[in-house]
Amino acid sequence: MADNILLQVQGLAVAYGGIQAVKGVDFEVREGELVSLIGANGAGKTTTLKAVTGLQSLQGGEVKFLGQSIKGRGAWDLVKQGLVMVPEGRGTFTRMTITENLQMGAHIRRDKEIQADIEKVFALFPRLKERRNQLAGTMSGGEQQMLAMGRALMARPKLLLLDEPSMGLSPIMVDKIFEVVNDIHQQGVTVLLVEQNASRALELANRGYVMESGLVTMQGEGRTLLSDPKVRAAYLGE
Ligand code: ATP
Repeated sequence: MADNILLQVQGLAVAYGGIQAVKGVDFEVREGELVSLIGANGAGKTTTLKAVTGLQSLQGGEVKFLGQSIKGRGAWDLVKQGLVMVPEGRGTFTRMTITENLQMGAHIRRDKEIQADIEKVFALFPRLKERRNQLAGTMSGGEQQMLAMGRALMARPKLLLLDEPSMGLSPIMVDKIFEVVNDIHQQGVTVLLVEQNASRALELANRGYVMESGLVTMQGEGRTLLSDPKVRAAYLGE
């Protein structure tokens, strides 16, 4: 099962008008892996994730999830198949409570285990449990990030895509978020993590890809990339 490819991206190209944001990118995520996609601001990471989830149309190349092209399939269908993204900026329902937000995450499901899964999310994020009846809009950025991740888990993802979960958070909250990303992976969820925080993202990753100006310029095991002098010079300020 370890070699079962969940996501396969080949020759992915995306343009915004005349701007070529992604210029032919190949990568894959296998079942059980945590894969990190790192790179500077504007490298094309978010655009890649949007293309993978069908939110951005492709100029070229192909994206396959569970062996099937995502072309022409709506977000609903992809979520139902297990491809679930937590977008940059979180996008929680601010006028709903935490519990209601988590219930919304399960809207595609018709089984009887939704309440049990809410309890599992609360076990992962005790802070959310304490505030279960609070409106999401009144929570801190870090708490909203936790909620967005909890809501995504309620869809029972096969592949969880996280777009810059640590962005804009305090150092303590950054620690907490990476801890939880690791826990989620340890619990068996396959994760594709997009991050500017290269050291933290590569520490957790089985494998990583480095993006620069719309291209994948390096790839390898997380630890190997982390100790690579070029990566250290470009992304870790050394
Ligand atoms: P960040 O960390 O800032 O999100 P990123 O690596 O995710 O960076 P993208 O957001 O994918 O990079 O941006 C890649 C390139 O595409 C950039 O040059 C950006 O200015 C451009 N771009 C992104 N979104 C749009 C858009 N909606 N319209 C036009 N250009 C865009």
